[in-house]
Amino acid sequence: MSRTTDRLLLLDGRLVPGTGGAFETINPATEEVLGTAADATAADMDRAIGAARRAFDETAWSTDHAFRARCLNQLRDGLKRRADELRDLTIREVGAPRFLTFGAQLDAPVDDLGWFAGLVESYEWERDLGRAEPMGMASHRRVRREAAGVVGAVTPWNFPHQINLAKLGPALAAGNTVVLKPAPDTPWCAAVLGEVIAEETDIPAGVVNVVTSSDHGLGAQLTRDPRVDLVSFTGSTATGREVMASAAGTLKRVFLELGGKSAFIVLDDADLRAACSYAAFSGVAHAGQGCAITTRILVPRERYAEAAEITAGTLAKLGVGDPQDDRTICGPVISAKQRERIEGYLELAVEEGGAFACGGGRPEGRDKGFWIEPTLITGLPNEARAAREEIFGPVLVLLPHDGDDDAVRVANDSPYGLSGAVHGGDVERARTVARRLRTGTVSVNGGVWYSADVPFGGYKQSGIGREMGVAGFEEYLETKAIAEGL
Ligand code: NAD
Repeated sequence: MSRTTDRLLLLDGRLVPGTGGAFETINPATEEVLGTAADATAADMDRAIGAARRAFDETAWSTDHAFRARCLNQLRDGLKRRADELRDLTIREVGAPRFLTFGAQLDAPVDDLGWFAGLVESYEWERDLGRAEPMGMASHRRVRREAAGVVGAVTPWNFPHQINLAKLGPALAAGNTVVLKPAPDTPWCAAVLGEVIAEETDIPAGVVNVVTSSDHGLGAQLTRDPRVDLVSFTGSTATGREVMASAAGTLKRVFLELGGKSAFIVLDDADLRAACSYAAFSGVAHAGQGCAITTRILVPRERYAEAAEITAGTLAKLGVGDPQDDRTICGPVISAKQRERIEGYLELAVEEGGAFACGGGRPEGRDKGFWIEPTLITGLPNEARAAREEIFGPVLVLLPHDGDDDAVRVANDSPYGLSGAVHGGDVERARTVARRLRTGTVSVNGGVWYSADVPFGGYKQSGIGREMGVAGFEEYLETKAIAEGL
């Protein structure tokens, strides 16, 4: 295959080059050019949307449940057969530490496709409400759930397989057709999906279209096109606002998974050392590039200095590492642009009166690649911008609290509401605090909420709707009531 078309688009069932040529994808750990991806233009996107519309309107895809379940299992099995290649690709293109590819960066979302296939078979697609006589007219009523139609799926680069598959799985299970527009930083992770769909599944032409492009405008095109029924978007809150505004023109349904600045609350009866070490580890995994990562650590005020020492000590020990290495927790950030954005926040933190208990810049001895040291900022109030805004890097902020009520107040004093964590000795008390957080997910004492059957999403400006679980599947359905006169 020529270098200009290392990986192709999936358009209407065929793997084809983009009419815009090709663009490079690079390894963020080394800056090595991995190769090129097809660069789609607005004309390619137009074809993709047309194909998805036709496949929805003119095939039995949306009504043949057993066929869809079979196709989803084929997709899972096809991806599993290429697991080694995909693992290496994910490490090299995303900079994801290898250990994460055995979970949310690869294996878990691939397995989750099987859960959605099972749901197609077990879901109650039609419910019988029985007879009634509204306004004296005897009627038999039924409520049906049907596919929403053509789904425009727009995704970011940080967990590409998880997010691409957490959209494709439920959208396809529900009977929709899809146009997937991945982030320009990780086109290969999406292009491989197109290859597996074309080569190893019976998914009909047009049901899934994968449109890689260097042009963010193609995402916006999906939000405007009247042939698209629903936009499923994951990305920043700023872009989410644009998506919602643009989709209003054709009154599309929008489903938004956005940013976060989640709190990790350490209660005064917690094992401070264990809790702060865990907060440090989970806060800088994948260089902090996770929307649900808990980046504000709230500790009892009287133990602030001790907590700073423990957290900074753990972060310094973790350091950064080659993502190919099994032991690496914190790899590179995705791009020079992202590194610059993070460095801007580090400068801002100092201007706002904060100090670095560890880190605060680029690590020594890494001349190639995009790296930021695991960093702990102390001395900032929750009102400071560096403490409130999403940084999306390996940067944690340590904040004091004055007991459970105050911890809940500080945690909830945020425009975001995506996730959170509570650590405490008395689990009932920790659970009570968890219930008071205005967020879509909460982990108590290290509990893991990530799973196909658990809904994930945000309160407030972290999003609208839920991904995963039955709730996530139902985002992709319409509801129809049918009444028969008797
Ligand atoms: P981004 O918002 O810059 O881009 C996301 C996607 O939107 C990309 O595919 C991009 O090409 C596309 N896009 C850009 N402008 C658009 C427009 N006007 N209309 C439609 N699409 C457009 O986000 P990013 O930098 O790729 O990812 C990081 C962000 O994603 C962080 O804020 C993070 O919190 C968020 N995120 C959220 C979740 C979640 O589930 N809540 C998960 C992962 C990442």
